[in-house]
Amino acid sequence: IHRLDDSVVNRIAAGEVIQRPVAAVKELIENSIDAGATSINVVIKDGGLKLIQVSDNGHGIRYEDLPILCERHTTSKLSTYEDLQTIKSMGFRGEALASMTYVGHVTVTTITEGQLHGYRVSYRDGVMEHEPRPCAAVKGTQTMIENLFYNMTARRKTLQNSNDDYSKIVDLICRFAIHNVNVSFSCRKHGANRADVHTVSNLDAIRSVYGVSVARDLMEIEASDNDPSRSVFKMDGYISDANHAAKKTTMVLFINGRSVECSALKRTIEVVYAATLPKASKPFIYMSIVLPPEHVDVNIHPTKKEVSLLNQESLVDTIQYAVESKLRNSNTTKMFHVQTLYSSPSGLPSTSKDPQISSSPPSTKLQKVPIHKMVRTDSQDPVGRLHAYLKNKPLGENGKKSDLTSVRNAVRQRRNPKETADLTSIQELLADIDCNTHSGMLDIVKDCTYIGMADDTFALLQHSTRLFLVNVVNLSKELMYQQVLRRFAHFNAIQLSDPALTELMVMALKEEVSQSDGHGDVGLHERIAEMNAHELKGKVEMLQEYFCIHIDQQGNLSKLPVILDQYTPDMDYVPEFILSLANDVNWNNEMECFQGISAALGNFYAMHPPLLPNPSGAGLQFYRKDINQELLLEAESAWAQREWTIQHVLFPSMRLFLKPPNAMATDGTFVQVASLEKLYKIFERC
Ligand code: ADP
Ligand code: MG
Repeated sequence: IHRLDDSVVNRIAAGEVIQRPVAAVKELIENSIDAGATSINVVIKDGGLKLIQVSDNGHGIRYEDLPILCERHTTSKLSTYEDLQTIKSMGFRGEALASMTYVGHVTVTTITEGQLHGYRVSYRDGVMEHEPRPCAAVKGTQTMIENLFYNMTARRKTLQNSNDDYSKIVDLICRFAIHNVNVSFSCRKHGANRADVHTVSNLDAIRSVYGVSVARDLMEIEASDNDPSRSVFKMDGYISDANHAAKKTTMVLFINGRSVECSALKRTIEVVYAATLPKASKPFIYMSIVLPPEHVDVNIHPTKKEVSLLNQESLVDTIQYAVESKLRNSNTTKMFHVQTLYSSPSGLPSTSKDPQISSSPPSTKLQKVPIHKMVRTDSQDPVGRLHAYLKNKPLGENGKKSDLTSVRNAVRQRRNPKETADLTSIQELLADIDCNTHSGMLDIVKDCTYIGMADDTFALLQHSTRLFLVNVVNLSKELMYQQVLRRFAHFNAIQLSDPALTELMVMALKEEVSQSDGHGDVGLHERIAEMNAHELKGKVEMLQEYFCIHIDQQGNLSKLPVILDQYTPDMDYVPEFILSLANDVNWNNEMECFQGISAALGNFYAMHPPLLPNPSGAGLQFYRKDINQELLLEAESAWAQREWTIQHVLFPSMRLFLKPPNAMATDGTFVQVASLEKLYKIFERC
């Protein structure tokens, strides 16, 4: 056994204190802060191995102190061991600068207040290499470490290969910057004229260091305790909210101004986040904890990184509680909208708008809806409809919006339609509808949200987590048919401006002929038309009594039934209707006759696309060619009117009355285009 040389002992010790360049930077910055600096600038070359230079505007070092500045255990911050219990400075061991001189070349330039010039001196192995040389200097101290680990080949090699200390240094400075509100920091690579960190103040610092997106998602947090039997401390800082998304926890912790780690606290907070937020994002935490200096044992780690606290458990508990309640409160407001709507019964339109509900505390039950089952829409609430996003001017809508309530009321009044006639044939047809109802689609129809028209015939519907395309023409046709049967013999009338019956039919026939091959014999068709008119004339009484279809003695159609309140069919389709009444109805069998007439009415009243091409679609070309402004306006209003009616008349009525027949499940009337659950699965796979 032999005694180690002092220089060997010191170098080993130095290697422990200064494990890597970032540790040296930390010590130098702490010295600068201890010296009361308000501005600290760092320059790094080669990850700190070539050069670490820290300049501050602190109080500087006196000329007399320079010879022992870098000796081990020389400090201005501590005299007796007891001082350690109330230490407020960051340094106290008087070891940092000394250590650096054993593993690098240290040069200090400093000037104290009131001096005309400063001094520069270099150190090696704890001692000055030469007398301090007078030099020009600005207020404060500049400490330079060159060739760090020049005498520790192995460590230098590992560090050279890892080459990530610069980012560690930047990260460190960021932490200091966030906490030291009154100190501005900058850090740049040697030779670069732009700083990688440049900060001014607290939240500002978080913003410029961690990004706007992080700073935006932060909430202020505070906690304190002043009961010596538990803990005595004050904490304030920022924690991320539910919007923050990160894979890694960032915890910036300062205890009594010291950048430290406290794994117990970090782990506890992580658990709170994982348990409270549905989307397990890792938190961003900045906390500054101040407690009586005698409650902190800063001397448990060679680089003072970890600290141990008096009553640590109870302090962590208190902070955990604060984080938890902060998170709950911020989080549930957000979740609430999403989830209540999902669970709200569709029949109560007022509830979703009731402000009391949105401010009432959410019950825990509400939080259990898995995220992929959450629904943002309410079938009663217009929010989220496509219409709102379309730029088209709301043509012909003025004054109509206010009609919405009256439409709804009228529709509601119709919930219990008057008893239909006692005719068994009608009862049977209605029973038919009942046993043919598709229960799945009935659910969809009852509780769906209209989103908007996807094209001329298909509308987009949302039901729960699924999105459907539905054929509006088919749906309205079926709805009208069913309504005719339900209102059988109890119709209100739509008064018409007497179109001539026979003429109309001829028009319709001609159209049909010209659409086929053009070999039509107009005379023959005219005769058929007249014959049909004659046929119909024989049925006028029945049509009038049961279906409110009035045809007078001259063969003019004068009244039509109201099948849906607030809705009149497109009169362009009258000829087809008359034609189908004459041709498609079996007048010899009572049930088939009623069914046929109802179907013809259904087809007539269905919400077909207007005959004029859609001017907001590809049909616009049609109007360009003709440069027919009047027609364009007419078409625009026809299409706008139809869309309004679909949304405000068809869909509300459908929810109340339509019993979708089984056939609709397969005939393309309902097409599911997306389901949230499946989308989630796809995303998960990605
Ligand atoms: P400690 O910080 O533990 O006291 P150091 O070795 O880091 O030990 O520093 C030794 C002493 O040098 C400090 O106590 C302080 O008086 C002085 N000192 C170091 N850096 C600076 C500086 N940037 N400005 C003024 N004084 C400094
Ligand atoms: Mg120090």
